[in-house]
Amino acid sequence: MNFFADLHIHSKHSRATARDCDLEHLAIWAQKKGIAVVATGDFTHPAWQAELKDKLVSDGSGLFTLKDDLRAKADEQVPKACRGEVRFILSVEISTIYKKGDRTRKVHHVVFAPNLEAAARISKALARIGNIASDGRPILGLDSRDLLEIVLESDPQSFLIPAHIWTPWFSALGSKSGFDSIDDCYGDLAKHIFAVETGLSSDPAMNWRVSSLDRFRLVSNSDAHSPHKLGREACIFDTAMDYGAIVGALKNGDGYVGTVEFFPEEGKYHADGHRNCKTRLDPKETRALKEACPVCGRPVTVGVLNRVEVLADREEGCAPPATGGKVISLIPLVEIIAEIMDKGPATKGVVAAYEGMLARLGSELAILSSIDTNEISRIAPQVVVEAISRLRKGKVIREAGYDGEFGVIKLFTPDELSGRGKEKLLFTVLP
Ligand SMILES: [Zn+2]
Ligand SMILES: [Zn+2]
Repeated sequence: MNFFADLHIHSKHSRATARDCDLEHLAIWAQKKGIAVVATGDFTHPAWQAELKDKLVSDGSGLFTLKDDLRAKADEQVPKACRGEVRFILSVEISTIYKKGDRTRKVHHVVFAPNLEAAARISKALARIGNIASDGRPILGLDSRDLLEIVLESDPQSFLIPAHIWTPWFSALGSKSGFDSIDDCYGDLAKHIFAVETGLSSDPAMNWRVSSLDRFRLVSNSDAHSPHKLGREACIFDTAMDYGAIVGALKNGDGYVGTVEFFPEEGKYHADGHRNCKTRLDPKETRALKEACPVCGRPVTVGVLNRVEVLADREEGCAPPATGGKVISLIPLVEIIAEIMDKGPATKGVVAAYEGMLARLGSELAILSSIDTNEISRIAPQVVVEAISRLRKGKVIREAGYDGEFGVIKLFTPDELSGRGKEKLLFTVLP
């Protein structure tokens, strides 16, 4: 059975997260997005761990569901067309900061456990090293290799995935504080790493250029800090919905289909440049300029695309390795509606149109990736059908993000939309 999984998210106990990042809202939004397996995040946090114990029941396989009464209550807030089973997988992101080879390393990791006892063993071991109670994503002075050892010793089924591996400041391969390979990062235990997370600013095609990543399954997740961001990136499985099958698919590829992706240009560190100088450069331009900003002369901020090129040993557009999966590139549905209506994504009209589409058609991932456009045209204006058709063909207009400035992905030129002012305002979901 094909299903979507989002394996990296945060609870309300992590910094800069939404107050409604609780299990009920995660279950509600997972269904609205079309996600069947969602990470709990933050399992080392004592208050969150208590909530997990209190509100979840094991499904017997290593995944968990909300207790019946809580689930029934949550389901009332989910449109009938979107309802489905949601299972949780125990997870936590750990930030390690340490010195190795005279350089300060900062690496993020996502850790998974098959039961609450293994999660408790990991928490206990980490509590000896630093404070795990102040932040749902604890920051610990611990070598990446030693964190992996703690995870492996907690249970034969526990595992670790290096998080968003290209982020300049906080990742295994990051230009500022990472390494040049996953092996260098995890040392003698690196053979226990079988998947890596590509992050929002890179997509699988970029990673396929680096042959040392060939042996890893590429995963993508939302890293959501609020429930409505769930599934903006996700993994696609075709297995039984149980913990062992998910681990097996990630290890051996059996039943691992691929990923749902952001267009990587949307990420805020995709290209190089200077935000204040309004200068965006691609890696070739940066090299020609010897990394000096053409406006102010100071070194530019080097982005993810450039870092990939430094480590790449294959040309752009190369064929996928044997581990390569299917890739579906999407734009969040509220952003599509917001572009059409020329309003902010959180405005009343946009939200009403979004909720209306979900109620009539089903989950967001289904609307974006699979529901027949004829069916969409029965309830939404033609411009929406056109937007979704273009998206599915990858016909998007990209302006890459750089130096902390988010990129912009659009489906229409301003001219295409400006002629139809009235229709824009009349975007309502038909009854
Ligand atoms: Zn992170
Ligand atoms: Zn500058």
